[in-house]
Amino acid sequence: MDFGKVEKSLFVNLCMEKVDKVISLCLRRGIIFPNSEIYGTFSGFFDFGPIGSELKRNIENSWWEFFVKDEIVGIDGAIITSPKVWEASGHVKSFHDPLVECEKCKKSFRADHLVEGALKISVDGLSIEKINEIIENEKIVCPNCHGKLSFVKEFNLMFKTHVGAVEDSSSIAYLRPETAQLIFINFKRVLQTSRKKLPFGIAQIGKAFRNEISPRNFVFRAREFTQMEIEYFIHPEKLNECKYYNEIKDMVVPLCTQDMQEKNERDKFKNIKIEDAINEKIIGTKWHAYWIAKCLQYFYYIGIKKENLRVRQHLKDELSHYSTETWDIEYKYPWGWKELMGIANRTDFDLKQHIMHSGEDLSYFDEDKKERVIPYVIEPSFGVDRLIFTILLDGYEEVEIKGEKRIFLRLNKKISPIKVGVFPLMKKDNLPEKALEVYNLLKDKFKCIYDESGSIGKRYARCDEIGVPYCITIDYQTLNDDTVTIRDRDTTKQERVKIFDLERKIRELLES
Ligand code: ATP
Repeated sequence: MDFGKVEKSLFVNLCMEKVDKVISLCLRRGIIFPNSEIYGTFSGFFDFGPIGSELKRNIENSWWEFFVKDEIVGIDGAIITSPKVWEASGHVKSFHDPLVECEKCKKSFRADHLVEGALKISVDGLSIEKINEIIENEKIVCPNCHGKLSFVKEFNLMFKTHVGAVEDSSSIAYLRPETAQLIFINFKRVLQTSRKKLPFGIAQIGKAFRNEISPRNFVFRAREFTQMEIEYFIHPEKLNECKYYNEIKDMVVPLCTQDMQEKNERDKFKNIKIEDAINEKIIGTKWHAYWIAKCLQYFYYIGIKKENLRVRQHLKDELSHYSTETWDIEYKYPWGWKELMGIANRTDFDLKQHIMHSGEDLSYFDEDKKERVIPYVIEPSFGVDRLIFTILLDGYEEVEIKGEKRIFLRLNKKISPIKVGVFPLMKKDNLPEKALEVYNLLKDKFKCIYDESGSIGKRYARCDEIGVPYCITIDYQTLNDDTVTIRDRDTTKQERVKIFDLERKIRELLES
């Protein structure tokens, strides 16, 4: 018996148990629901509930406030756009995943994921032929019915629709599979209207759609999701002239380099100073290094645990068709290190493609050299939904208190959906009236909830489960001296505060 294998599977089961618990919390507490649940659900689509939609909004706002300022401006592009955009970008021709079908039960699977799951190896970047070879040599069968698998073929991930009254090949359009192209096609207009000079960035938050072969791991891989992307345009000869370099050069980042992966150290990372990574040519350009550092700083800022993040370089044969260098910020998910976000050097590929296909001049006039150039682009890109799931997994904790299992969602205060819970100690003796007075005082200043049902312990527990950082209780002493208690979710310590000082105090706590 291979005990290593048994232990490993036990570990995987324990970890996946956490995934199930977080999903169950999402359903119980109104965070995320499977779409069309009353009709038996619709695979790959999800809806955000009352708590989840607040969380999503807070994350989007925190990202926008963190990045969209100075030389970065925003846009909000259309979801359906001319099919010519996707022909130019290469998506019509090459936005594929490898598909394999079971010849017996007819189920479809993503071939690379199937191989990874069966053999516990990474096949990122392998060709269709190579994946076929592995399936055949390793005798991998259908995980559903053990039937024989078909040959692997390419499957285009774009959702098609028709625009207008006639449904024929001339009316085909696509739901955008990424938000980035809307930035490239609006490059000239944004440049003219915002009067920015290189380097500058365009940011966007919006829906993207991918007809994933096998959506899985809840919202980690969905068919409809929200992306937050920045295309940061840089003079092609100035990728090492980063004006913020001094701010980030001493930052230590956890890197898993190409070299390490080639030496079979794929599961590891090394803490390397940005300056050393640049000097040793591990990271290709200073602007790329800046964006890696800045995005890590954002994830730390919203409270993701440092030890669960690393930055992995794409192997050469794994790079997308438009990229010369890509680093993924990966999270240590219960199912392994996986991409949370990608930071790619997209070069001048997209602008050049759109120049070629549209005939428009999308170049930039370099006033110093008096010549026109096509800017290069560094693209930090990620999905909000994937980030939300990551935050929930990262913040979920079970604690035993007096023999009872209690769940805490340790969300960072900046993003927690509800900031303050207000409770009367008892549902009698004028306590609810006084508690409502306090609630009315605060509700327009902070996202608050009022709760008077069940024991006070149950009400604290309900708030802990959705990450409310502070709970205020109105008790008998309040009726005498106009003070209330504020309980801190993470320490569970309580402090007495005068009602007239409450707003200032909460503001101070939330900003601390
Ligand atoms: P993966 O390798 O996980 O399929 P990708 O490399 O295809 O991701 P990109 O095209 O780089 O992803 O998309 C940028 C980001 O969008 C990803 O880092 C991820 O956060 C998010 N994303 C991509 N596909 C999905 C999806 N199906 N569901 C949720 N988020 C997604």
